[in-house]
Amino acid sequence: MSQRRWYQYSAEETAAIQRVDPRKGLTAAEVQDRQAEYGPNVLSEGKSISPLALFLNQFKDFMVLVLMGATLVSGLLGEYLDAITIVAIIIMNGILGFVQEFRAERSLRALKELSAPIAKVVRDGKRMEVLASELVPGDIVVFEGGDRIPADIRMLEASGLQIEESALTGESVPVHKRTDAIADEDVPLGDMKNMAFLGTMVTKGSGKGIVIGTGMQTEMGKIADLIQSTETMDTPLQHRLEQLGKILIGVAVALTVLVVVAGILHGQPSYGMFLAGVSLAVAAIPEGLPAIVTIALALGVQRMIKRKAIVRKLPSVETLGCASVICSDKTGTLTQNKMTVTHLWQGGQLLEVTGQGYEPVGQIMHGKQKVDIRENSGLRRLLQIAVSCNNAVLEQAVAPAGGEGKKQGKKKERQEWVVNGDPTEGALIVLGAKAGITASGLSGLYDRIAEFPFDSERKMMSVLLQHQGGRLLYAKGAPDMLLSRCTHILWEDKVIPFTDTLRQKVAAANEAMAKNALRVLGSAYREVKAGEVCEQEADAEKGLIFVGLTGMIDPPRKEVRQAISKCKAAGIKTVMITGDHQLTAEAIARQLGLLPEKGLVLNGRQLANMSDDELDEQVDQVYVYARVSPEHKLRIVKSLQRKGHVVAMTGDGVNDAPAIKSADIGIAMGITGTDVTKEASALVLSDDNFATIVAAIEEGRGIYENIRKFIRYLLASNVGEIMTMFLAMMMGMPLPLVPIQILWVNLVTDGLPALALGVDKAEDDLMKQKPRSPKENIFARRLGWKIISRGVMIGICTLAAFWIALNETNDLAKAQTVAFATLVMAQLIHVFDCRSSRSIFHRKLLENKALVFAVLSSVVLMLCVMYLEPLQPIFKTVDLALRDWMLVLVLAAVPTILFGIGSVLGGRRRPKRTLRYGGPAGSPVSR
Ligand code: ATP
Repeated sequence: MSQRRWYQYSAEETAAIQRVDPRKGLTAAEVQDRQAEYGPNVLSEGKSISPLALFLNQFKDFMVLVLMGATLVSGLLGEYLDAITIVAIIIMNGILGFVQEFRAERSLRALKELSAPIAKVVRDGKRMEVLASELVPGDIVVFEGGDRIPADIRMLEASGLQIEESALTGESVPVHKRTDAIADEDVPLGDMKNMAFLGTMVTKGSGKGIVIGTGMQTEMGKIADLIQSTETMDTPLQHRLEQLGKILIGVAVALTVLVVVAGILHGQPSYGMFLAGVSLAVAAIPEGLPAIVTIALALGVQRMIKRKAIVRKLPSVETLGCASVICSDKTGTLTQNKMTVTHLWQGGQLLEVTGQGYEPVGQIMHGKQKVDIRENSGLRRLLQIAVSCNNAVLEQAVAPAGGEGKKQGKKKERQEWVVNGDPTEGALIVLGAKAGITASGLSGLYDRIAEFPFDSERKMMSVLLQHQGGRLLYAKGAPDMLLSRCTHILWEDKVIPFTDTLRQKVAAANEAMAKNALRVLGSAYREVKAGEVCEQEADAEKGLIFVGLTGMIDPPRKEVRQAISKCKAAGIKTVMITGDHQLTAEAIARQLGLLPEKGLVLNGRQLANMSDDELDEQVDQVYVYARVSPEHKLRIVKSLQRKGHVVAMTGDGVNDAPAIKSADIGIAMGITGTDVTKEASALVLSDDNFATIVAAIEEGRGIYENIRKFIRYLLASNVGEIMTMFLAMMMGMPLPLVPIQILWVNLVTDGLPALALGVDKAEDDLMKQKPRSPKENIFARRLGWKIISRGVMIGICTLAAFWIALNETNDLAKAQTVAFATLVMAQLIHVFDCRSSRSIFHRKLLENKALVFAVLSSVVLMLCVMYLEPLQPIFKTVDLALRDWMLVLVLAAVPTILFGIGSVLGGRRRPKRTLRYGGPAGSPVSR
């Protein structure tokens, strides 16, 4: 099918070949048939690692191979039971590792699927959004600036459409698209102007087309093998841990060699020492670390999804915790983006509009008097512009069943008014409807010939209309932008030239509205002479007649004020960046508690006149940037970064992509964001809400702390194991643990408890501390000291228990069992200590249910090998009496209790931690 030269066919022929009516699209049944015939619209991915290979990978570790070799030798020497048990433990360890890695891999894949692209289609006569993977040949697809083309498409409509095709052709200059057939043979891809190709990007305008190729049948499919589609998912932390792992292996092996040599010198049998040494090395190497880190990251990311934040790039989870500034858009992120026009200004008169939300019920009032628009031609014109220069649609839809219905025990279907399209334009449609002016009422009288769409650079839009008397241009936009294109004003029903006094009146009315936090739009029009060329915006939008102003409220989101104060406490500065008027922005910023007394507000013009150095000087004091263009955002990010900040930046439009890419954490809007911004971002907010960013930062900090918690636990446990053996050998004692016991300790303590720490709840003061520096070492803030001190202490206590038991009973098996139980219990008590950066007394002991369960199951496993008769000879254990248990429990608790008391006493002497952090507000300071 893809062999056809689609560009040579006319749009009608293409539709006929694809058996589709371009107005109605395919039916659901046709889509289903074609999906069965052509398969999903995806490029085939490289082979992923099979579960079997993943399982076998677990045994590739050098030390595990040595252990297997040693076991084989012991088997050959007749120690069958030992050999079989060691192999069983190795396999169980392998299964544990496999399960951890498999889960990690699966959650990563699930995350990838979450950010699957969406396509806008016409099916069964209706416009809808579907997964791009579900597209079939014949589907009618619509797209606009910022969208990625979801399949290979023959164009049906193109208005000002430009597509950047560098992914396919290498040419980065966007191609202007059109719809007519191209007769030539062998046209290169870059010249197929009536086609759009999978994976290319719409930079401007809008279009509609028929899908003619999907998945591997597309031009992109043909070169799919050449495209590097595998993204590296390793985070900087994972990378550092990998390196750390290598160092730890070296240290563990070196210490093991020392243990073995010391043991042999003190008269231990060499073969027994060799097996003990290898077992110790296997136990001491934290092989589970990378998998647990991935699981902690992935589980954290799942929690973020529940809080409406979708992480697109795993490394950003780490960076999130370091964010020191959040630059946020205003409209829709800090505010609700539910606009209602409340004021109008026309011909010097300020009018009020009653009614709330999108329900088209309300009146236009002048003081206490209702205004009759039939008697006010200026106002009528203003409303006509509001409704005609508009792409939003007001509809009634069934409201989602709310909590109220549930309370009453039955769900009531409620109709509610919704806006399909831009909320700013929706508010204008509602305004028109309140006065009886609707798009359907105007159709036939004023028909649209062309549109110059809104963009955040020009901050205005206009439409060219045909009516009985000729052509009209209607424009609306930010008043300052619009006024510069106006030469006249409609004043008391007359068109008069704009004088300075009149301009000042308009400016004063605009400012008065903006100061009250209203978003203000101006309206203007002109008659377009017959024969006048209006192809470009610049030709059309000039010599306009100013009509009036519309002011709309956009209430702040309720949860944002609290989120901003949470940020403040967490040392994170919130900055508002908006295209709106300075006074509007300032008023909203004050309502939200975002702008402090001495905080500065800068506007786009001031910013444009500043050098980078001047901006750097002021940037820490600026809290609001108003009337800025997307390109300013990049400058702001760069300047903040030069000042040492870790910047999170939001965006929705195509032009925001560069700033989002440069920010340390680029954040795209899930609802209003374009594909381009989403793809450039690290985080997507599925509810567009500022509070969600703060929640994600909180999770990011929590995940990092959890990773530190289980690194502390795993490494301290390993230090404990090595220390027990090392000290015993140095002191010429017998082996305190037999090889199987060492392996068993490693198995029961490393798996579940460490995982449970990975899902631990954050400490209460997590968001009361300054952001950590991204350069911070994982062992910073005394973690390294804690690992070594607790580990050494666990080793000393285990050895003490061994020594006391041995002296008392002179029974080596008993003393070894005591040491075994002490080591396991010491680790399982210490795991609770790892939950807090202070001491075990700082947190509720049983709060983490998963941890309690993990510890209990580890205890049960330990008791099994100690008391089950068939297992005793294998694990070389004997029954312990109550007295022995007292010894075990006291010595197992000593490390944690001792350090706990030390921290409490030390903590009293030290000033509060949060007060110790210096540095300017919001600057990242290493905690
Ligand atoms: P942000 O989302 O970045 O906080 P914003 O959405 O308020 O900013 P823009 O959408 O760029 O900023 O709008 C800037 C100005 O353009 C508004 O103050 C308004 O006057 C005008 N404007 C907004 N939407 C439209 C529209 N659909 N048609 C014409 N003018 C508009």
